[in-house]
Amino acid sequence: TTRITKFDQRADEFGALAHSFNQMAEQLENNISSHQRLLGDVSHELRSPLTRLQLAVALAEKNIGNTAEQQKHLSRCEMEVERLDEMIADVLTLSRLEHSQKAFACDDTNLNHLVSQVVTDCQYFASSKDVSIEFKESGKYTLLADDKLLASAISNVLNNAVKYSANNQVVTVELTQQHEQIMLSVFDNGPGVPDEMLDKLFKPFFRVADARDRSSGGTGLGLAIAQQAILMHHGEIIAENIKPSGLKITIVLPMAKMG
Ligand code: ADP
Repeated sequence: TTRITKFDQRADEFGALAHSFNQMAEQLENNISSHQRLLGDVSHELRSPLTRLQLAVALAEKNIGNTAEQQKHLSRCEMEVERLDEMIADVLTLSRLEHSQKAFACDDTNLNHLVSQVVTDCQYFASSKDVSIEFKESGKYTLLADDKLLASAISNVLNNAVKYSANNQVVTVELTQQHEQIMLSVFDNGPGVPDEMLDKLFKPFFRVADARDRSSGGTGLGLAIAQQAILMHHGEIIAENIKPSGLKITIVLPMAKMG
């Protein structure tokens, strides 16, 4: 969420100037939040006609009189409807997260357990392309977190690592600590990302190779949602290329204070 610096109030010309800047800032903040609300409302409203469309396509597909050609078009419709549905869900999630700030269900979370669960959930997808996932943990970590939200962020990063890996490659997940921070890194040996695009990776709908990445599924919102989720845990998420080839995504989380 954008925060705009407020200027000090003073009683001279600078004060007057500061006053108008503050008013402009307030207006800007209001505009940003009403824009986010609109996005949420629009996605919500799109849901109902889409659900009806989904139903209509499903009914049409059941018609035994369909020719192969008609069936092919209907399957295509079904796929596109599913894709739209996924996209609307992701836009809604992102808009909700951007709105909700700190209001999320926090609990003491065993991070080792949570990561190992995410790894297990991703095994099926990994084995479908003979990618193996290695989970290396040094230390036990607990933190205050919204389990589901944190797990979905980690899951997105891990699924991407598998998705962009070639068959038979290895994806490594490392859980360690550095000073007062927990570091969760996911390494793959895929193609990586051109250096000049690394800072765009977390922007909504950004894709390195638009056509290629679009055809491999996903909405282009996964990393934007993951970043928002990590920011809500007072952490950060960083992307780096590794040698000879591959991407390393690090999620940095603050360690729970003792006592
Ligand atoms: P998508 O749904 O397209 O996967 P994401 O937000 O998860 O959307 O990722 C955005 C883009 O970042 C992807 O389309 C891809 O171009 C790039 N990307 C993400 N993870 C990786 C990775 N591990 N290796 C290479 N490129 C990646």
